[in-house]
Amino acid sequence: MKAMMMKDISNFHDNKTPLELVDLPDPVPSDNEVLVRISACGICHTELDEIEGRTPPPKLPVILGHEVVGRVEQTGKNATRFKAGDRVGIGWIYSACGKCSSCLSGNENVCSEFMATGRDANGGYAEYMTVPELFAYRIPDLFSDSEAAPFLCAGAIGYRSLRLANMENGLNLGLTGFGASAHLVLKMVRHMYPDSKVFVFARSQQEQAFARELGAVWAGDTGDEPHEKMHRIIDTTPAWKPVVEALKNLEIGGRLVINAIMKEEIDKGYLLKLDYPTHLWLEKEIKSVANVARRDISEFLEVASKIPIKPQFQEFALEEANQALVELKEGNIRGAKVLRIE
Ligand SMILES: [Zn+2]
Ligand SMILES: [Zn+2]
Repeated sequence: MKAMMMKDISNFHDNKTPLELVDLPDPVPSDNEVLVRISACGICHTELDEIEGRTPPPKLPVILGHEVVGRVEQTGKNATRFKAGDRVGIGWIYSACGKCSSCLSGNENVCSEFMATGRDANGGYAEYMTVPELFAYRIPDLFSDSEAAPFLCAGAIGYRSLRLANMENGLNLGLTGFGASAHLVLKMVRHMYPDSKVFVFARSQQEQAFARELGAVWAGDTGDEPHEKMHRIIDTTPAWKPVVEALKNLEIGGRLVINAIMKEEIDKGYLLKLDYPTHLWLEKEIKSVANVARRDISEFLEVASKIPIKPQFQEFALEEANQALVELKEGNIRGAKVLRIE
């Protein structure tokens, strides 16, 4: 099979072609796995983190890609959930132990044996991949392959953030940062919690305008103080200032959920502005989100097909993966980028 493979850690400044086109033997599914013939794989910012060594793969070379859509080509001896020809998706969670208390409570994303697709196991920048059948999901018919691919990451994580926020209809929700995941959260909230008001904190005027267009009752800058407090706030920024500023706007007993893989060191000093009475007193809570469990992916796909939400996307050939990654790195983003694999 053809695959775009990552062989070394590098940075885009010096190396605009970090992935290499290779020809490999087709993978063979083990007893509990399915072999998937890949038709689309979304491109995520996490690939930039892997290539540049911020989330380094434990072993190289590896095939990146964790927003995978394709059809089951072959099933392992004990794999019975799918039959050949079924359309499935695969997300960031590739496998977990299935036995620990986290796994048994449906939070297999925090299992100590968690493995990530396209980092700890080969992913979707290829014609085929194998995956444990329990970590593949049916894709609702409404979506094309390229439409469904970006949902397997940003959408599902946004959905988990809402779950961990313990959101309820009628509660005020704040969103700090307004990127891919946050804008999907806003669309979900309008559908799932129709009586809730959404407030968006974003630096760019363009993002603020986009948030109002999608139904936010208020949109302003990170440090702004709207006239109402929020019961729940979801932070999707890589910085600390929005966290401190969000706590100020939180209601009594409110919850702030931080949905960010990493926080940058650069504005960490802002945490010294933390003032106990203003930011934490009166039982305010802070919780982080660690990617996704299986339930988040399958439930989000259902919710997205009911609303419905359809992402904007731009297609590239498998061989153009480097070009797509460079464009993402340079901030040239017109909708999600998806590799279309023939
Ligand atoms: Zn991702
Ligand atoms: Zn486990």
